[in-house]
Amino acid sequence: AQDLTGGQRNQAHLMFEIQRMEQPLLSVRGLTKHFGGLVAVEHVSFDVSPGATIGLMGPNGAGKSTLLNMIAGDYKPDSGSVLFKGRDITGLSPHKICHHGIGRTYQIPRPFPHMTVLENVMVASVFGRGFGKADAKNEARRLLHTTELAEKERALAGDVLELTLKRLELARALASNPSLLILDEVAAGLTEDELPKIFQLLEHIRSVGTTIILVEHIMKIMFEAVDRIIVMDKGIKIAEGTPDDVMKNEKVIEAYFG
Ligand code: ADP
Ligand code: MG
Repeated sequence: AQDLTGGQRNQAHLMFEIQRMEQPLLSVRGLTKHFGGLVAVEHVSFDVSPGATIGLMGPNGAGKSTLLNMIAGDYKPDSGSVLFKGRDITGLSPHKICHHGIGRTYQIPRPFPHMTVLENVMVASVFGRGFGKADAKNEARRLLHTTELAEKERALAGDVLELTLKRLELARALASNPSLLILDEVAAGLTEDELPKIFQLLEHIRSVGTTIILVEHIMKIMFEAVDRIIVMDKGIKIAEGTPDDVMKNEKVIEAYFG
């Protein structure tokens, strides 16, 4: 190796960098979860490239949340594995997985109701990034600005309306500075008028390079904000591809309309 010229060394380094960039950020292999006799998720595998936005679709009860819960550490898989940035994170606690760089929102928002909006985001950046109080406050204010919550910082989380809660849920997930953000029905429960605001926010999160996996029933979001779609039905992955391909897929049509 010591005989390499400078040019060859540069080239070798470049090849190494390209290989690293081509590696999936997330690799899910054969993830399986049963609840008693119920098959919630059965042998699901997929890869997510860095910077991609992936949509996860499927009828109610298809296993979408269970799959996300296994990736984020809320449920331990019965079998299968989760690789993130090339590391095996299967079955780690949510706290550890958060530290590896995966942030998430819950289908049902879970703020601390007796804390203010600002304090809720501060807590998330203290736990997610190990910030002290002053840094956590600065970071929380920055995120409240991004999520257009600055005016609500003193409101108690238990008192705020749906759109604010959804934004707070996002701000809390972003507080750990995730490279992968998992969003479970973040637009559910919002009115038609409120949707564009959440869209804009997602676009912003995407534009700074954050990789996203989102569950959504709103087709407009699936068609306009997503690079690839994975479709589940009865715990199984039944299709994966571009939005156009997936919507033409017979198994998908059968799952939704059959
Ligand atoms: P989706 O998010 O696609 O609507 P879920 O992943 O929430 O689906 O649920 C998949 C199946 O697993 C459903 O039948 C649901 O009732 C079941 N399930 C989910 N979580 C649990 C749990 N903690 N205990 C028992 N059954 C569960
Ligand atoms: Mg769900």
